[in-house]
Amino acid sequence: MAHKFRTLLDLCRRRGFLYQSAEIYGGLRGAYDYGPLGVELKKNILNSWWRRHVYYRDDVVGLDTSILTPHPVLKASGHVDEFTDLLVDCTLTKERFRPDKAPALTTDKNGHIPITAPDKDTALAWKKAIQEQGQHGKIVFDMVDPNHTPVELPYHGYVEPNTNSPFLTDSRPFNLMFKTFLDPIDPIDRPSTVYLRPETAQGVFVNFEQVVRTMKTKPPFGIAQVGKSFRNEIRLEHGIFRTPEFEQLELEYFVAPWESKHYFKYWRKERYNWWLEHACHPENFRQRDHASDEMAHYATGCTDVEYLYPWGWGEVEGVAHRGNYDLTQHIKNTGANFEIVEETQPVFSDAVQASGEGEADLMPTELPARYVPHVVESSCGLNRAMLAYLCDAFHQVEDGKGKPPRNVLKLDPRLAPIKCAIMPLTGKSEFNALTQKVAKSLRRKGLFTVVESQKLKIGKRYYRHDEIGTPWCITVDYQSLEDDTVTIRDRDTGNQERVHWKKVHQVIGDRLMQ
Ligand code: ATP
Repeated sequence: MAHKFRTLLDLCRRRGFLYQSAEIYGGLRGAYDYGPLGVELKKNILNSWWRRHVYYRDDVVGLDTSILTPHPVLKASGHVDEFTDLLVDCTLTKERFRPDKAPALTTDKNGHIPITAPDKDTALAWKKAIQEQGQHGKIVFDMVDPNHTPVELPYHGYVEPNTNSPFLTDSRPFNLMFKTFLDPIDPIDRPSTVYLRPETAQGVFVNFEQVVRTMKTKPPFGIAQVGKSFRNEIRLEHGIFRTPEFEQLELEYFVAPWESKHYFKYWRKERYNWWLEHACHPENFRQRDHASDEMAHYATGCTDVEYLYPWGWGEVEGVAHRGNYDLTQHIKNTGANFEIVEETQPVFSDAVQASGEGEADLMPTELPARYVPHVVESSCGLNRAMLAYLCDAFHQVEDGKGKPPRNVLKLDPRLAPIKCAIMPLTGKSEFNALTQKVAKSLRRKGLFTVVESQKLKIGKRYYRHDEIGTPWCITVDYQSLEDDTVTIRDRDTGNQERVHWKKVHQVIGDRLMQ
C-alpha cells in the first residue's frame, strides 16, 4: 500500500500535478505548488462543486470575501480564544505533536517509544544525547543490516523510557491562526491585528445582511464561497492532506429554526452523493457522525465525509448544523441587523412540507415573526478532495508478460485534467490539417485538448495519457484522410470507435454530460 502511494506521488511530481514549493531552494515544509495538470484537476473539482450547488439551483449565490480578517470578527466567532489545539514538544526530535495524534511517541506493547530519525547522523546524535542523559532510559537504533551495511533511510529505532522521559513536555494550547498587522508603522501602540482566515465561513456571516438585501432573498437560501484558508497546523502530514495553506469549498445554508432539522439531513445526503458521483470506488467513502464531545459547543449535529486513504480513514468534509451561533455572535458585537422579520405567519417550505420533518413547535406564534436564521454548513477541503480522487483513480495494470505494471488514472472524465489527446498516426505533415481542425473544434467547446505528435508509437502515446487520466484519445490515420473519420479510444475499455471528425465534439460533450 505504502509503495503504491509512493508510486502515485512520484507520478504526480513527474507528470506535473504537484511540486514541492520553492524546490530549487530546498522546498518549504508543508507547501506545495500545483503543476499544469494539478491546476486543471483542482479546477474541475471546484467547478463540479460550484455547478452543482450554485448554477443548478435557484437558492444559492456566491461570494468572495477577503482573506485578511480583522481581529474583532474572529474574536466574536470564538477563533481568537478557542481555535487551539493542544501541543506537546518532543525535546529529542524537536518535533511538535498534538497529544491526541502522536502515534510515533506513544509506547508500543513492549513499553518502548518507536522513533524514526531522518538520517544516520541524526540517529547517532540522538543516541549520543540520550546516552549522556543516562537516567532517562536508552535509545536503540537498528542501523545495520546483517551484512553490516547501513539499512535504508529513514532509521527506525525505539526508546525505552523511564518515568521522567525527556520526550514530551506538558501539553499547552496553541492558537492555529496566522497573525499579522496591517499597520506598518507602529503595530504596538495602534494595534491593527489581522489574521489570515482559518475558514472562509466568517466572511459569509459578516456579509449576511448585504446579500439578503442585494439579492432580495430570504431563508431557505445559501451562500457559497471558495477560497484559501490558513492554519498553523502543529503537525503537517501526508503531503497535501494537511497543510498550512489550503482551499475550502464552503456552503452556508440559512434556514428558519423550524426547518433546520430537515436541511441538516438534506445537506448530509446531498454532499455525500456528490462525493460518490465522482468516485471509482464508492466503498472507500463513508459518513461518520460526530459524538457529542467532538462537536463545537454550539453545534447540534456534525457529520464528516471520510475517505479511506492509504494510511487510514481521513476527513475530507464536515457537514455541521451550527445553529444560529455565528450570526448571533456578530449581532452581539456589532448590532448588525441579521434578523429575518415575517409580517405574515410563516409556513413550511415545500421541501419541508413534503418531508414531514418540520418542527412546528419552534414556529413563532406572534406577528411580526422575528428570528435569527440557523446555519447548515458544508465545508469541503479542495486539496484533500484532489488527493482522495487521485488515490481513488490510481490503478496499476499488469500486462501478464512479466513487465512492470503500468499506471492508469481512472479519473471521472469530468475531473480529468485533459479531456482529449489528438494523435496523428505518424509525424508526417499530411495529417496536420485534419489534426488541427479536430483540435480547434474541441477547444471551441471549452474542452482542454492537446495534440500528441511525438515520434512515439501510438500505443505508447495512449499509455502516457492513461497515466494522467485522459479519458479519450483521438487518432487521425490514413482512413481519416479518405473519409474524414477519426477513431475515439476509451481510456478504461481500450475500445475504439470511428466517428466523422465533425461529430467528435458532440460525442465527447454527450459523454461528459452523462
Ligand atoms: P482535521 O480534524 O483533519 O484537522 P477539521 O475538522 O479541523 O479537520 P474543518 O475545520 O471541519 O476541519 O475544515 C473543513 C475541511 O477543510 C476539512 O474537512 C478538510 O477537508 C479541510 N481542511 C481543514 N484543515 C486542513 C488542512 N490543514 N489542510 C488541508 N485541508 C484542511
